[in-house]
Amino acid sequence: MKIFYSEKLKKLPPYLFIEIDKKKKRAIEQGVDIISLGVGDPDLPTPEHIIMTMQESVANPVNHQYPFGMGMLAYKKAIAQWYKKRFNVSLDTDEICALIGSKEGIGHMHLGFINPGDIVLIPEPGYPVYNAGTIFTDGIPYFMPLVKENSFLPDFDAIPKDVLKKAKLLFINYPNNPTAAIATKEFYERLIEFAETNNIIVASDAAYSEIYYEECKKPLSFLECDGAKEVGVEFHSLSKTYNMTGWRIGWVCGNKNIIAGIAKVKDNYDSGVFQAIQEAAVKALTSSQQCVENFRRIYRKRRDTLVEGLRKIGWDIDLPEASFYIWAKVPNGYTSSHAVSKLLDEAGIVCTPGNSMGKSGEGYIRFALTVDVLRIKEAVERINKITW
Ligand SMILES: *Cc1c(COP(=O)(O)O)cnc(C)c1O
Repeated sequence: MKIFYSEKLKKLPPYLFIEIDKKKKRAIEQGVDIISLGVGDPDLPTPEHIIMTMQESVANPVNHQYPFGMGMLAYKKAIAQWYKKRFNVSLDTDEICALIGSKEGIGHMHLGFINPGDIVLIPEPGYPVYNAGTIFTDGIPYFMPLVKENSFLPDFDAIPKDVLKKAKLLFINYPNNPTAAIATKEFYERLIEFAETNNIIVASDAAYSEIYYEECKKPLSFLECDGAKEVGVEFHSLSKTYNMTGWRIGWVCGNKNIIAGIAKVKDNYDSGVFQAIQEAAVKALTSSQQCVENFRRIYRKRRDTLVEGLRKIGWDIDLPEASFYIWAKVPNGYTSSHAVSKLLDEAGIVCTPGNSMGKSGEGYIRFALTVDVLRIKEAVERINKITW
C-alpha cells in the first residue's frame, strides 16, 4: 500500500535537530572526532537526590496506575511553593497543570484556542513547536522578528492592524532560545497592555528561567507583572533546570480559564505524567537548589571560555545574559548554513544554523554550551585554524 501523509504533516518543515543529527552521524561514521554544540540537551546527569526519589517512587504500586488528574496535588503544591519563593507570585492549584515536558503543552495548547484561519504570533528565530502547533490546528503563523537592534524583543508596533484583528495567541520565550536574551519588566508590562488591548492570549515559555549568569540579572516571570494572570500562562520545565530532558516533566501555570482549556485538551489526548516522575519532580523543586547553582557555575565557565576564545580570534560576540546558548554572528558575511558546513567539514564542530530557526537568524549560528570546558577549548583551537 502507498502511504500518504496529511497536508498538515507535509506543511511542517523537517524537525530541526533531526537534520543536524543526520549530518553529525555521517561525520561520525567517517571517523571524525565531533564536538557537538548543536542540540540544546544538557550533558550533565540529573542530581542524585532526584534519581533516588524516582527509584523509590517507581517501586510503589500506587504509582503504577493512571496518574491523578492533571497533576498530583503534591506536585502542584511544590510548584506553587517554588514559584512563590522564586518569583513572589502566588498560584492556586487550579492555576497549574502538569505537563509531559513543556513541549507537550506548548504544542497542544493551540487545540484549545485556535480555530482555522486564526493567527498565532510567533517569535522568530524561535523554538519550532510554536509553529508546529499552529499548523496542526490550521492556524496561520505570523512571525515577529527578533533582531539585535531591538534587544531581541518583538516589536508589537510593527504588527499590521489586520493581523492583530485575527490574532488569538502569542508566544514569547525569555530567556530566549536561540538569542540568549532576557526580557525586562517594561517589556512584559508593554506585552500585557498589548494583549489586553487586542484580546490575545499570551503563552510565555520560560524553560530557561533558571539558567542565568548573574544574580542581579535573574530572569523574571511574566506572571510577576500586574495583569499577567488576566491574559496568559507561563510554561516551565524541569528539563534544563535539573538536567531532566529525558524524564519529560514540566508544567503550565497562570490564568485558570486558560489552564482549564489546556487541561481539557490533555484529558482527551493523554492521561498525565507518570506519578513516580511527579514525585521526583517534587523532590527537585522542594530540596536545596544548590545543585542548580552548581550547574549555573559550570555554564558560566563554559560561556566565558567560548566567548573569550572566539573574541580573541576576531568574532564579534555578545555575552549571553541567560540560557546555555551563544548566539554568534558569523564572520565575514558568511551565511548560516555555509558557516555551519565549514565548521563541520574543517573543524568537526556541530552547531545550529541560525536561519533554521527563522529567517531573522540568517547570518548567525547557535552554539549550545553542552560539552565540558576542555572540549570547548579544543573547539576554539580548531575554529582558530579555519580561514574565513
Ligand atoms: C528545551 C526547551 C523547552 C522545554 O522542553 P521540555 O519539553 O520541557 O523538555 C521549551 N522551550 C524551549 C524554547 C526550549 O528550548
